[in-house]
Amino acid sequence: MADVVIAGGGPAGRALARACARRGLATVLVDPAPDRRWKATYGLWGDELPLLPKSAIACAPSATLAFGTGPHILERQYLVVDNAGLRDWLSGGYDVVSGAVSGVEHGRFGSTVRLSDGRLLAAGLYFDASGARPKGDRYEQTAFGVVLPAEDALRLVDSADTAMFMDWRGSEQGFLYVLPLGDGTVLVEETSLARKPGLPLEVLAARLRTRLSAAGLKPGDREERVRIVLDVPVPRRGRMVPFGAAAGLVHPATGYSVATSVRLADPVADAVTRTWDRGPAEAASAAHRALWPSSARAVHGLRRYGLRALCGMPPEVVPVFFDLFFTLPTGLQRAFTSGREDISGTAETMSTLFRTAPWQVRKYLIG
Ligand SMILES: Cc1cc2nc3c(=O)[nH]c(=O)nc-3n(C[C@H](O)[C@H](O)[C@H](O)COP(=O)(O)OP(=O)(O)OC[C@H]3O[C@@H](n4cnc5c(N)ncnc54)[C@H](O)[C@@H]3O)c2cc1C
Repeated sequence: MADVVIAGGGPAGRALARACARRGLATVLVDPAPDRRWKATYGLWGDELPLLPKSAIACAPSATLAFGTGPHILERQYLVVDNAGLRDWLSGGYDVVSGAVSGVEHGRFGSTVRLSDGRLLAAGLYFDASGARPKGDRYEQTAFGVVLPAEDALRLVDSADTAMFMDWRGSEQGFLYVLPLGDGTVLVEETSLARKPGLPLEVLAARLRTRLSAAGLKPGDREERVRIVLDVPVPRRGRMVPFGAAAGLVHPATGYSVATSVRLADPVADAVTRTWDRGPAEAASAAHRALWPSSARAVHGLRRYGLRALCGMPPEVVPVFFDLFFTLPTGLQRAFTSGREDISGTAETMSTLFRTAPWQVRKYLIG
């Protein structure tokens, strides 16, 4: 019998598996294709994961810019993840089983995890880190990107060594995201920040094609298709503990979760270890509390308010809003994007935006 079984071998599941194994818990990770490489291009703020090793960084762009109606230099290091390096860093100490979890039953002393081929795994505690699947009835961030040689990307952006976090020029309902990948190529992505239902990928792809052909460029072979569910509800407490995107760890207004999931793996594993001797129900409760303390729930509510406000703004107002956001002191920007338990910082960012916004923007912040 394993102490912990985790469904899902994405960044969240692997981070948690490593953290549990390091604390001496016999850990099993289940994934339908555990050796399949992660295809998404993951970016994160360096200050969210200061322990990320160099081997897990594909590129640290020389500068990070944003463009609302005007340019802004962001004083935070943005990093592009090296997926193979991140996986390696999150590997070791746990067993990996190839299979898909199809059901779980909980008893007094543990859980029985059923795989779709009929195998059964006995576990003290079960975590679901199997991601969040888009269903069409939720707020979603969607994007369509292509990878271009750096010299081609220079026809669209001023520098191939700079991360363009968002560029609202020339788009009606979205922005351009430009990321050097560290191998002489650049990801150029047409992004819809948030919409319910998500803006269809074909619309974004057509928009990107128009942008590329106006610059005399053809799309390359490598494409990136992004659908991120933004409003996964905070999970109810129970014997099954969700983790990662499945646990609502995606920031509702930005779509980011990788850094948060990796960072939370240690405190969640600590909570499980501390309460292990009191049985699986106590350990599950402790894991839930570590994942979603009341401060994180309160911040989540504020972030969701931000999401709804953003989605209520007409397209011409959104770049003006981001001009305001990116002129805030860096600490306030960080509080909103990364301060998961920082109630006062998040509230201060939102109230400062409200106070300084022209009426044209302010009326949409009232909600
Ligand atoms: C293209 C793309 C780009 C993104 N870019 C960023 C970014 O730059 N920064 C960021 O922070 N976030 C980004 N996100 C959002 C989010 O962080 C990612 O979706 C991230 O992969 C979520 O990690 P996860 O481990 O929770 O889930 P996933 O990565 O979705 O992993 C879930 C795993 O569970 C497995 N699984 C599914 N069902 C079962 C089952 N029944 N049994 C066992 N295993 C199962 C899946 O095969 C998969 O391996 C992006 C998302 C996409 C789609």
